[in-house]
Amino acid sequence: MYGSDAIHYPQDEMTTVLLPVTSGCIYNKCTFCSMYKDEEYYEVPLPDIEKQLMNMYVYTDKIFLVGSDPMSIGFKKMKQLLDMVHLHLPYCACVASYAAIRSIFKYSVEELSILHDAGLRLLYIGFETGRDDILKLMNKGHTVEQAVQQAKKLNEANLAFNTIIMYGIAGEGESVDNAIATAKMINQFTTDRVITMNLVIMDRSKLREKVKNHEYITSGRKERLIEIKTLLENLEPEQPTIFDTTHPTNLVRMKGVLPEERRRLLREIRNHIKAHSRDN
Ligand code: SF4
Repeated sequence: MYGSDAIHYPQDEMTTVLLPVTSGCIYNKCTFCSMYKDEEYYEVPLPDIEKQLMNMYVYTDKIFLVGSDPMSIGFKKMKQLLDMVHLHLPYCACVASYAAIRSIFKYSVEELSILHDAGLRLLYIGFETGRDDILKLMNKGHTVEQAVQQAKKLNEANLAFNTIIMYGIAGEGESVDNAIATAKMINQFTTDRVITMNLVIMDRSKLREKVKNHEYITSGRKERLIEIKTLLENLEPEQPTIFDTTHPTNLVRMKGVLPEERRRLLREIRNHIKAHSRDN
């Protein structure tokens, strides 16, 4: 499968038909990530993509583009790909994909809008944090201001996206501040869903080296639970937004719509914090 042994996709796309578009990561420099460390970046040629589409069930209604950031292939190729999807899978109403802030940069609002109309309906984007110092520490390759600008472009193009953030990322003693800054960032745009991930120190990542050298101290479980609570307290979406902590890395599993279900979600997270304090 195009040089990649492991295929990464959002858990909500577990039953979605997968279409490999890239392998490896074009950036491959995030401090916390070693997912594609040994893989060369590679774009699947369009004729190969077309062959895959021709072999799919014609009534497929949704596909997920496989790759760390398929938007990195650029407007022209993405448009051709979506046209092929439309040709071979005429009932496909939604193409979803991961995307990096750095890649959205390459697209104008008009191009994003054209892609939306051609069938691209949902992006999963790693914003990670609303703090510039932590983005720099994690070498994410974008700033908070740039992230907000790209998110607003997507809003203008009517292209829906889910916002992936990572609690624990700011390290010991920084979590509350990180949650407030992250909520402040998210409050500036409209997103379908806020998906939380819990920082995991990956083997062979640069962050693991930093931990080993005492240059980075991880936050504990209680601090991370309080970070989730602070995030929930500070998110003020203008439109109903799903808050989702069900990704397997999370310390607790919760899902609900903000702002309507904020009280219920806060009650749940407070109970988790209380239970943690009781047990320790
Ligand atoms: S987090 Fe995403 S963009 Fe960063 S290195 Fe990993 S796969 Fe690439």
